Amino acid sequence: MIYLGSHVSMKGDKMYLGSVEEAISYNANAFMVYTGAPQNTRRKPIEALKIAEAQKLMQKHNIKLSNVIIHAPYIMNLANPSLEKRNFAIDFLTSEIKRSAEMGAGQIVVHPGSAVGSSREQAIIWIAEGVNEVIKKTKDLKVKIALETMAGKGNEVGRTFEELKGIIDLVKEKSRVSVCFDTCHTHDSGYDIKTGFRDVIKHFDKVVGKEYISVFHINDSKNERGSRKDRHENFGFGEIGFKALLEVVYHEDFTQIPKILESPYVDDKPPYKEEIIMIKERKFNPSMKEQISQKAEEK
Ligand code: FE
Ligand code: FE
Ligand code: ZN
Repeated sequence: MIYLGSHVSMKGDKMYLGSVEEAISYNANAFMVYTGAPQNTRRKPIEALKIAEAQKLMQKHNIKLSNVIIHAPYIMNLANPSLEKRNFAIDFLTSEIKRSAEMGAGQIVVHPGSAVGSSREQAIIWIAEGVNEVIKKTKDLKVKIALETMAGKGNEVGRTFEELKGIIDLVKEKSRVSVCFDTCHTHDSGYDIKTGFRDVIKHFDKVVGKEYISVFHINDSKNERGSRKDRHENFGFGEIGFKALLEVVYHEDFTQIPKILESPYVDDKPPYKEEIIMIKERKFNPSMKEQISQKAEEK
């Protein structure tokens, strides 16, 4: 049994219920949502999310709440040099965690932050302070803050395992912090996911501890290793390739850890149903993209 799904949307009147329906349409048993547009911090009230209906449908389809992942908006920067903006990020993340808890999700993925106008060391300290503050404000909740491994574009913090370790070391309540391991990002930041994933994990284990990984983002990359670009490619169609990504999905140390696809749409159509078939059958379909395009045309 693997726990596999994709990023799905949460919008319109159906909100969370619509997210579950979308996940089911891909035959997924895990999924990830942004609780609103990832580029802004406007959010609907919790009462409008259709949480009870969504959870009922999940139960019917055997989707465990532990395989529901929330993603915080990526414009939020806990490392902003402005105290006012850092406080805004703290307050917003606090409200996102309350929302995640209401939805029953076990974790929220957060991009650690961007070291704009300050040193990376200072950024790491601010991020950890922010995380500590948020944890204090939500101390009765269990939702984990999953810091994502980043590609390292611009001034992104979290491009090395050492940087993530630096943040985690400063977090007081370790049970509330974890890592979201993104294969495209780690490849783009320079780790050898294509031919050396097992060694990369050994290294991660030495630096951070592999028990900290609470979710994987399984993405291929459009660019070569070390490019620091962060452009996702469809599963098996990029520089990492099908075989290596499949090894990540089926690695024996992470069988209980949910795996989330964040691949790009093909001709405005989500590719997740087809990608999940390839992963489950362990067989690459080189004409997947054409097939999706064709279907899109027929409609
Ligand atoms: Fe992310
Ligand atoms: Fe990601
Ligand atoms: Zn990315």
